[in-house]
Amino acid sequence: MDWSAYLSRQLSERRDSSLWRQRQVNQQSDGRFLYTTEGKYLNFSSNDYLGLSANPAVISAWQRGAEQYGVGSGGSGHITGYTNAHQQLEQQLADWLGYPKALLFISGYSANQGVIAALMTKADRIIADRLSHASLLEAAMHSSAQLRRFRHNQPASLADLLANPCVGKTLVVTEGVFSMDGDCAPLADIYQQTRVSGSWLMVDDAHGIGVCGEQGRGSCWQQKVKPEILVVTFGKAFGLSGAAVLCDEQTAEYLIQYARHLIYSTSMPPAQAQAISEAIRQIQSGDELRQRLQQNIDDFRRQVQKLPFNLTDSTTAIQPLIMSDNELSVSLSQYLQQKGIWVKAIRPPTVPPGSARLRITLTASHTQQDIDILTEALYEFCS
Ligand SMILES: *Cc1c(COP(=O)(O)O)cnc(C)c1O
Repeated sequence: MDWSAYLSRQLSERRDSSLWRQRQVNQQSDGRFLYTTEGKYLNFSSNDYLGLSANPAVISAWQRGAEQYGVGSGGSGHITGYTNAHQQLEQQLADWLGYPKALLFISGYSANQGVIAALMTKADRIIADRLSHASLLEAAMHSSAQLRRFRHNQPASLADLLANPCVGKTLVVTEGVFSMDGDCAPLADIYQQTRVSGSWLMVDDAHGIGVCGEQGRGSCWQQKVKPEILVVTFGKAFGLSGAAVLCDEQTAEYLIQYARHLIYSTSMPPAQAQAISEAIRQIQSGDELRQRLQQNIDDFRRQVQKLPFNLTDSTTAIQPLIMSDNELSVSLSQYLQQKGIWVKAIRPPTVPPGSARLRITLTASHTQQDIDILTEALYEFCS
């Protein structure tokens, strides 16, 4: 088959289904504003929930790290890329979150792929919440294990699947706070199911860590469960990037031996590890930031009650407005952009068909006035 004909057919399919994706160049952004060549926008699409991407102490930690270590790690952690900055960060994470071990990965995507690929074999099965992040579901589909999905946030549906026998090991997978819906997983019930069935639990807490629970220790801490595998990422509330897997000694040793994403990939720059260490300290003492974020969430939800869109029952920083029409979500996003407000439409296949949405995210950096501007524009669009 001709290459160009193939690509052209795939592209026109995308275009015709209003699923066309376009990147836009931005010049600078933080938890409150985004700047492009067109101008300045109020940013309601950022995952920088606490505004730490622009925090002076975090920036200066990165600068000092770069001066001390240079800008790159120079190799995989198995060769030369594991420095005392990496080791200290792992220890700090393990102590903070109450696990024997933490292992750093360059991204959440890579952590999820690496862990699932290393742990699962053909005889095994993965039972995942059906709305789990693409990085989890894709890792599960690419692994040789069997993949089953349970109904979103329904432990009874999980129990049904667990009741079927499996000769191999079972890994139950969920997120702490769902990235596209903002709702929280019933972790205590799910954890209980895994205790009864002798399976393991893996929780991806990309959107819970830093914002939920005492000191921002995340969804699992908040719900008093300790999954065998906890994945935390640094691209959201930490304002940086990278990820860590928290687990016991034996699992960590196994991953060091078998996780190809650790072995064959350059580790994060040591300066970044130092910046993440500083971000943890900011998060630990960040009650005021979390209170401000909570105030913004409460104000927003109160103000949008009368909009003709479905609100989810999210109590977190992720507040999507769900509409079935892909084109409507895009035109609303464009309308807001004309008003100087940046919110992106999220369409299938990122979310299930018929559930296109405006994924609004709130941060501690937004003011009451910012929220007023957003909600007024939403009502204007609907009037
Ligand atoms: C963002 C996200 C990831 C990917 O993490 P990166 O560090 O950005 O690669 C994984 N899981 C969830 C739930 C996420 O929201």
